[in-house]
Amino acid sequence: MPIFRAPVQDTLFVLNDVLGYERYSNLAGFSDASPDVLEAILAEGAKLAENVMHPLNRVGDMEGCVRNDDGSVTTPKGFKEAFDQYREGGWMGLAVPAEFGGQGLPYTVHSAVGEYMSAANMALMMYPGLTQGAIAAVLVHGTDEQKATWLPKMVEGAWTGTMNLTEPHCGTDLGLLRSKAVPNGDGSYKISGQKIFISAGEHDMSDNIIHLVLARIEGAPEGVKGISLFIVPKFNIDASGNPGTRNAVSCGSIEEKMGIHGNSTCVMNYDEAHGFLLGEANGGLKAMFTMMNEARLGVGLQGLAVSEVAYQNAVAYAKDRIQGRSLTGPKAPDKKADPIIVHPDIRRKLMTMKAFNEAGRALVLWTAINSDVAHRSEDDAERRAADDHMGLMTPVVKGVLTDKGFEHAVMAQQVFGGHGYIEEHGMSQFVRDARIAMIYEGANGVQALDLVGRKLGLNGGRAVQAFFKDVGEFCEANRGDEQMAPYTKALKKGLNDLQAATMWLVQNGMSNPDNAGAASTDYMHLFGLVALGYMWGRMVKTAQDKLATGANGSADFYETKLVTGLYFMERVMPETAAHLARLSTGSATMMALAAEAF
Ligand SMILES: Cc1cc2nc3c(=O)[nH]c(=O)nc-3n(C[C@H](O)[C@H](O)[C@H](O)COP(=O)(O)OP(=O)(O)OC[C@H]3O[C@@H](n4cnc5c(N)ncnc54)[C@H](O)[C@@H]3O)c2cc1C
Repeated sequence: MPIFRAPVQDTLFVLNDVLGYERYSNLAGFSDASPDVLEAILAEGAKLAENVMHPLNRVGDMEGCVRNDDGSVTTPKGFKEAFDQYREGGWMGLAVPAEFGGQGLPYTVHSAVGEYMSAANMALMMYPGLTQGAIAAVLVHGTDEQKATWLPKMVEGAWTGTMNLTEPHCGTDLGLLRSKAVPNGDGSYKISGQKIFISAGEHDMSDNIIHLVLARIEGAPEGVKGISLFIVPKFNIDASGNPGTRNAVSCGSIEEKMGIHGNSTCVMNYDEAHGFLLGEANGGLKAMFTMMNEARLGVGLQGLAVSEVAYQNAVAYAKDRIQGRSLTGPKAPDKKADPIIVHPDIRRKLMTMKAFNEAGRALVLWTAINSDVAHRSEDDAERRAADDHMGLMTPVVKGVLTDKGFEHAVMAQQVFGGHGYIEEHGMSQFVRDARIAMIYEGANGVQALDLVGRKLGLNGGRAVQAFFKDVGEFCEANRGDEQMAPYTKALKKGLNDLQAATMWLVQNGMSNPDNAGAASTDYMHLFGLVALGYMWGRMVKTAQDKLATGANGSADFYETKLVTGLYFMERVMPETAAHLARLSTGSATMMALAAEAF
């Protein structure tokens, strides 16, 4: 049975000591989550994740969801009760404004707890996760009446939400979508079409399901310019605001899939279903992006979460499993063999995962704080800078953290040898679950294109220049510090590679867009390494300061940070050079063969 312990101490270190959480107490909601309250919330979230969500992870994987003959879907045993505890605990509305029934606390706190929940049970957490995305879209684009009608019940968790973009012939290229909307003449629409792969499309965990559906209003332009977003409830709402008659939307089937078996992935059929325009006509993509940006950060978090839980299980196994002797002589002479944690190659795997997870957590929380600043600060310049950061980091967090999440699930599985491949230890589930995060919410290749093709050049490169300045100034400020030298030297080298790659793109990407496309995935990972390296620089600096000024009984924790950070700089950071070398070769060879030659 896999284990999971929420890394609360590490989250608190990052938030309080590295990112200076208290500095943001002027922002709405932050004073209600003062550091002691923050600690209490994280502890409560950890308990729910460890004791309620996590024990159901294997159950969900083995049982999966079942579509019944009447089109209803039954979720795995215990899922509904666990979800009830989640919503009754107020977790759904943690960061939603109080006027809609939420607690108005920082999104940062929501993200911190979100990591624990997704690590404990990724499939289960997708039901509330999609609802939170739908809440975000209605909050930003809904009319006052729509907000009053839909939000309180969703925030309460009595109703859940979905996002319906994908159609059989149309995934990445939403301009191809065919679902249509015909005006009823009273402001509402008849929505028809088929959507596939809809997560949480049908289930038994809530009284109503609020589908957000992309469709084309009759006569609207072709392509993405003619797409609108609609609210389509499973049950129409009666005069008193409760679920009434059944709407013409149904689950045609659920997909048999590789992982996240506990989440129902549905084919949804809309047969003149009653729907309501959300946001402007033909402005659907923009409205959906509100939901998708939130969801992309959430998916990045899933990558980190699976990497963390897989790592924890690999560590436990490596301490327990005895095989062979240490290269430098027996470490457990009383036993017939040493625990495999003595072997350098096992250490390489564990350290790689650990070094990534801790920096990944810091990157997610740094981005989450920027989200709070972007939405809650009263200072225009501060808001703009934070919004720039969010836009730039969203594809990096989504693409890099999920690619690495899968890689690390495999790495942790490898620590188990053959015992990782069979189902008994649960390692195979982590591999299968982590895989989807690289695909949905925009496949990672598309995230890389978003970074290179859109985000880099936005506002004359303002966001990327601000990031370079942050990292460069950090290296400069610590230049004379001998203790920091091994860290800042490696980080500066990584930054130089990233700046060279950016310059290469400016010089070669415009003249031949295939060069930008060919460089994009390497560039995204190079960017991710520098961002993670910067997080390590800041964590190490904080740990050194703590050790110098009194570690308050946590000296081991800080010493461990110094070693893990050094491992990252020595063993992971050098990959920036390979990414730069690869991307600088351009697209010529990659594009040289005719399609027939493959
Ligand atoms: C389990 C699961 C859950 C899902 N949940 C939802 C959901 O809740 N709601 C929803 O709407 N959808 C959902 N999806 C759909 C998912 O978002 C899509 O599968 C994804 O966006 C990719 O679309 P596609 O599968 O049609 O692939 P395609 O768009 O056909 O892409 C195929 C490959 O080509 C690449 N590619 C495509 N265009 C380009 C380009 N211009 N440049 C470079 N590369 C390109 C892609 O990166 C990908 O690798 C889910 C899918 C799965 C499997």
